[in-house]
Amino acid sequence: MTISFDLSGKTAIVTGANTGLGQAIAVALAGAGADVALVGRSSMEETETAISAQGRGKCLTIQADLSTVAPVQGVIDQTVAWAGRADILVNNAGIIRRADAVDFTEADWDAVMDVNLKTVFFLSQAFARQLLGKSQPGKIINIASLLSFQGGIRIPSYTASKSGLAGLTRLLACEWAGKGINVNAIAPGYFETNNTEALRNDPDRNSSILGRIPAGHWGRPEELGGAAVFLASAASDYVHGIVLPVDGGWLAR
Ligand code: NAP
Repeated sequence: MTISFDLSGKTAIVTGANTGLGQAIAVALAGAGADVALVGRSSMEETETAISAQGRGKCLTIQADLSTVAPVQGVIDQTVAWAGRADILVNNAGIIRRADAVDFTEADWDAVMDVNLKTVFFLSQAFARQLLGKSQPGKIINIASLLSFQGGIRIPSYTASKSGLAGLTRLLACEWAGKGINVNAIAPGYFETNNTEALRNDPDRNSSILGRIPAGHWGRPEELGGAAVFLASAASDYVHGIVLPVDGGWLAR
């Protein structure tokens, strides 16, 4: 049996692909041979340049603000119109709001839950519907968090959304595994992106986080690519409903 991580002939959709982890995942999937629809509300120029510099996989930019479910069907339709197919969905776009639980606002609760959980569900539903209609296999990869396992502090809606996302990953895996769709998640540890800028700029939080990471450094976005390619490829065909930590050993402590 040959184990294949090759994504040639596949088309992936990556949300929040303009920066950070989404950009690194899009570049990694393209590097493995996939064509990639880059979905988000900001310019994708940097990601497009990185993909074309690699010389593998072509890409399409789809403008979409994922704070509501309004664009979800359009994202799937534009991808299929462009590539003729959509095989892989990476639900990466996400936001975080920080405040003590006692002061946390309803607006910050709703904003985070809408992007991190509600849109993820309805985009996954639209993606799965087009696969199920054609009995075509597919892969969904949700970007979860260590806060899918732990409580954290000062991020109540983020922790609720990422813990909810772990549950949603398991539910969708149970419903769709028998229909050829793999639903899994990756739980990144502490990575150097906009999302963690406030933590890295706080000397106390920075050193306490760094001191707990066995690998000894904040994750670099490109260090997430291998897990994404694995979960997008045939190598993970019998893997369903997992939340795979890529955390430099954080959860092992
Ligand atoms: P980031 O640099 O802040 O990127 C977040 C991405 O989500 C950006 O592309 C952002 O687009 C997009 N996004 C946010 N709101 C959106 C909206 N309404 N519509 C469309 N796109 C939207 O952070 P990141 O670290 O790469 O985060 C990526 C994912 O990893 C998130 O789900 C995050 O929770 C998760 N994560 C990150 C870490 C970490 O250590 N960095 C750890 C665990 C989990 P804009 O640039 O236009 O805002």
